[in-house]
This record gives sequence, C-alpha cells and structure tokens, in this order.
Amino acid sequence: MSIHVLDAMSREGFEEVIALHDRVSGVRAFIAVHDTSVGPAFGGIRRWEYLSERQALMDVLRLSRAMTRKCVLAGVPGGGAKAVVLDEPGLDLERAYRFLGDRVEALGGRFYTGPDVGTDDRALGWLAERTGYVTRPGDEGPGDLGAATAAGVFAGIRAGLEHLDGELDWKARTVVVQGLGGVGARLAERLVKVGATVVATDIDVEHGVAVCNRLGIEFVEPSTEVTRHCDVFAPCALGGILHDVTIERLHARLIAGAANNVLAKLHHADELARRGVLLLPDFVTSAGALIRGAHYHLDGGLVPLDEVEARVANAVREVLALAEAEDRAPFLAARDLADRRIAERRAAADPTRG
Ligand code: NAD
Repeated sequence: MSIHVLDAMSREGFEEVIALHDRVSGVRAFIAVHDTSVGPAFGGIRRWEYLSERQALMDVLRLSRAMTRKCVLAGVPGGGAKAVVLDEPGLDLERAYRFLGDRVEALGGRFYTGPDVGTDDRALGWLAERTGYVTRPGDEGPGDLGAATAAGVFAGIRAGLEHLDGELDWKARTVVVQGLGGVGARLAERLVKVGATVVATDIDVEHGVAVCNRLGIEFVEPSTEVTRHCDVFAPCALGGILHDVTIERLHARLIAGAANNVLAKLHHADELARRGVLLLPDFVTSAGALIRGAHYHLDGGLVPLDEVEARVANAVREVLALAEAEDRAPFLAARDLADRRIAERRAAADPTRG
C-alpha cells in the first residue's frame, strides 16, 4: 500500500519531511519535523530493521507528531521531530551517524536530536562531531535521560494509583515492568525502593535475569508478563504492544509506561476503558527525557528529577480530570487536548495563518 506523504503532512500539520541517502555510508533515513511554531523541534534518532520503507516513513511521522503532543502537555516551549534510520546489512554506522550529524546541522537548529532505540552514546558522540544540535553523552550533556524518563513514569504510576485508590499503599501494589533497558531497569529499582512488588521481563533473557537478580525481583519469561495479575502494567520496551490479543490476556488495573505509541490501534483505548483498565497516555508519562533534554538545550539548566516528577504528575492529573469531565478514555481526551493546544499556539505564533 502506498503512502501519500503530502496528504499525510497537510492532514496532520507537518512542516517538513526529508528523505536522506548517503552514497558513502549507504545510510537511508527520514527526518520529520512536525512543529516549530513556538521553538525548535525535539526528537531522537531511531535506528531499526524496518520491514519496508513505508513502515519507516509511517514510524517517523507518528513519532514526530507524538513528540509535539508530548511538548504541549509537558509545557516544553518547542515541538516534535524525529529521525529514523533504516538499519540495513553492511551499514557503516560511524559514517552514517556523521552524515546524519551534517544533515541535522544543516537544519540550523530547527531540529534538536538525541538518543532513541538504536542510537546509543557512541552514536551520539559521532553526531556531536558534526552538530551542536544533539544531546551530548556523559558530563557534557543533560546527563542520564533514561533516569529522567523513569522518574516521570514513576510519578505517572503514582498519580494513576492515587486516582484509582485514593491513598496509596505501595506495599500492597504489584507492578509488572516489560523491558529492563535504560528506563525499565531504573523504574523497577525505584518501585522496589518504595516497597512495591515488582515482576519484570526482557526479551534479552540473560540481561533481564541479571537485572532482576540485582534488584531481588522476580523475572518472568517474555510474553507471559501480560498474563500476570497485577495493579500496574508498565510497558518500557517497544510500541504497539496493546492489541486485540494482549488486551484480552491482560490483568492490570492501570497501564503506564515509557514506550511510545503503545496502542496498536486507536480503538484499543476505548476497548481498555470498556474493560475498566486505566491507560495513561504514553505521550504524558514518558516526557521526562524531553523535559530535561529540551530545557538543557534551551537554557543550559538541568531540571531536577523531582521537578520532572511534579510536571508529569500534574499533567496526568489534568488529563484524568478532563477525561472524567468528558466521560471518555484519558488517552483520547489527552490527544484532543494536545491537538487543541497545538492549534492554539500555532494560531498565536502566526495569527494570519491559524
Ligand atoms: P532500551 O533500548 O534501553 O531498553 C528496551 C529494553 O526492552 C531492552 O532491554 C530490550 O531487550 C527490551 N525489549 C524489547 N522488546 C521486548 C519485548 N517484546 N519484551 C520484553 N522486553 C523487550 O530503551 P529505553 O531507553 O529503556 O526505552 C524504553 C522505551 O521507552 C522505548 O520504547 C523508548 O522509545 C521509550 N522512551 C524512552 C525514553 C528514554 O529516555 N530513554 C524517553 C521516552 C520514551
């Protein structure tokens, strides 16, 4: 099935979509800039073995639009962008990332980029050789962004449980964490510290078991985690994991995590609500790294983790109150709230164009 890029851009309000190919490294990539109406666009670089060019293009569009929603709901004075790299055999990674650094630099600060799946500190170092518009790894940058995201997810879970139960008793709560990478492992650690029972998994079993042993928590085989009875299911692996099959098997009251675009299809938000499962929007709960990274780029300061937590918790409470007032799934209420705010700020930035 073909995709009409210009139609998709005008329908969803994208500013720019760039297709890239480098003859030397062989890299093929897309950059999508969704919104720069109030400031630069922020978004990481995802490198992934896409099954097709179409899949990569769809991903960059969805991810960059979600970043704008994340910005408006987290109060970040910027918009969304994203780059995706088609991870193909024989790709010269070092040259590929330097090439991408040149292209990010050529955008002159419209696009600030950083880590995402497949783009680690080494890749950030190659990018940073060519552009200043990138999150620098280590002490030269905003520090551990995974920790900021985990702090935000933790705050989201806390706000979600308070909404459901009133007073929160962590010791009586069980959380299943799917994915024990940069975010999931830190989230699990934080939950253990407050006394919650944590059960976790990772598709990289050796790594997952090692993390669980270190934290003293139970490891479950990948794909069995969705069937565990728990209070909270925290998706911290990849997107698209809430679909007909998993929703049928899920036994959680609350879903809140870091993974972007966690719903396979939008109608699954209604399906979860119908089943009495509270799904917090991923573009609200996963905003920690954006809050930290964006402010570091914009004013050079480091937003403390407790401020990250407070901002995410406030956004969650606002969305839950709105959803209740509108009597609809919080995910959908949050999406429409974000889109209204995007339209408003675009109109305010350029009243002649709306
Ligand atoms: P990561 O790559 O460090 O960790 C992901 C982990 O999930 C890996 O250990 C991987 O083996 C595991 N995994 C992959 N598929 C799995 C599956 N089907 N079942 C169980 N485990 C699986 O990534 P991260 O930085 O921890 O981010 C986690 C998610 O949160 C990603 O989707 C990312 O896009 C999103 N996110 C991350 C940040 C951030 O600051 N790192 C910010 C916003 C959103």
